[in-house]
Amino acid sequence: MEPGLSPYAGRQARLRKKLGARDLPLQLVSNPSNIFYLTGFRGSAGMAVISPSEAVLWVDPRYTLQARSDARGVEVIEERGPILKAVARWLRKRNARRVAFEDSFTTVGQLRVLQREAREKVRFEPAREIIESLRCSKDPEEIGAIREASRVTAAAFKTVLPQVRPGIRESDLAAEIDYQMRLQGAEGPAFETIVASGARGALPHARPTGKLLEKSDLVIFDLGAILNGYASDMTRTVYLGKPPGRIRRLYNAVLEAQQTAVELLHEGQRCSEVDATARRVLERRGLGQYFTHSTGHGVGIDIHEKPRLVRTDETRLPVDCVVTVEPGVYLEGLGGIRLEDTVLVSAQGPEILTSAPMNDWCIS
Ligand code: ZN
Ligand code: ZN
Repeated sequence: MEPGLSPYAGRQARLRKKLGARDLPLQLVSNPSNIFYLTGFRGSAGMAVISPSEAVLWVDPRYTLQARSDARGVEVIEERGPILKAVARWLRKRNARRVAFEDSFTTVGQLRVLQREAREKVRFEPAREIIESLRCSKDPEEIGAIREASRVTAAAFKTVLPQVRPGIRESDLAAEIDYQMRLQGAEGPAFETIVASGARGALPHARPTGKLLEKSDLVIFDLGAILNGYASDMTRTVYLGKPPGRIRRLYNAVLEAQQTAVELLHEGQRCSEVDATARRVLERRGLGQYFTHSTGHGVGIDIHEKPRLVRTDETRLPVDCVVTVEPGVYLEGLGGIRLEDTVLVSAQGPEILTSAPMNDWCIS
C-alpha cells in the first residue's frame, strides 16, 4: 500500500496540523496505542518521532520484521542500543529546538535520559494528550474495525446465553464467552470478561469465580472483543427466574437511563450532559446513590479512552466518536444491574454497534 493511500498518512497530517497550531514542530511518541494509531505498528516497545517532513519509528531487533511489514508512512530504524539515546542523537543531529513529549505517558526517568542525551539544546514540552484527542474522532478504517469487534462481542453473548442457567459456574461462562469471541474472529477479549452473579454483582468490576449461578440471581456479563487492534465493550444483565416487582423496577430504571442517554449521542453534545441525563433518570427513582461510576467512555485502540462521559468532561462529542453508555445500580446483598452498549456518534445520530437484546432478560 502506498503511504498516501493508508489512513496513517492522514492521521500524521492531522497531528502535524495540531502541532503547527501550537507552534510545536516535533512530537515524540512512545505510547504503543499512539504509535499504532499513527503508523500501524503494534508492538509493546518502540518510539516514533513525527516532524513536519519526516516520520521515524525506532524499534529493537525483536520487532524489526514486524515493523517493516506493518508500519506505513514511516521510516523504520532498528536500534540495538537504548532507544531513548538513539532518539536523542537524532534530535541533536536535526538541530531540534522544541519537542513535544507525551507527558501523560513518559516517565520522569525517561524524560531525564532524553534531556541529558539531547543536551540543553532541546526543550521538551508537554503535548497534553494531543494524539489522544485526535483519536476521539474515528476514521472509516477504525469505525469498520470497532463495528466488527462489536458484532463479534454481541454474537458471542447470544451464542452463550442458552447455557446461562442455575448450576453453571461464572468462570465457565466467562471461558465460553472468550472462546466464542475467538471462534468468531477476535484476537481475544479486550479485557477480562466479567460474569458476576447474585450478591457479587454489586461489585462493578467483579472477576469471575467458581461460584455457581443460582435461581433468583441477577447475573452481569461485561465483555468485549479485540479485533484488528480495536476494542468493543458491552454489558448485559439477566435474571434467573421470574423477577419480583422490585427487581423489575430496578431493571427498567437502568434500561430507561441507558436508552435516554444513548439518544443524546449527537455531534456537539456535551459529555457532562449525557452523564447528567443518565443520572437524573435514576435519581428520579431514588436510585442515584447506587449509580457509583461514570456513564461511559470512549472506545477504540484502548478499551478506555477519551472522551469520558462524566460530570467533569465538558468536551463536545465530535462526529464519528465511539463511546459506551453504561449506567448501573449496585445494591449490597442484592447484586447489580448494568446495561452497556458501544455506540457510534454518526452524522445521522447514535448508532448502537453492540446489538444484543436487552428486553429478553428473564431466564426461566
Ligand atoms: Zn464494559
Ligand atoms: Zn465500559
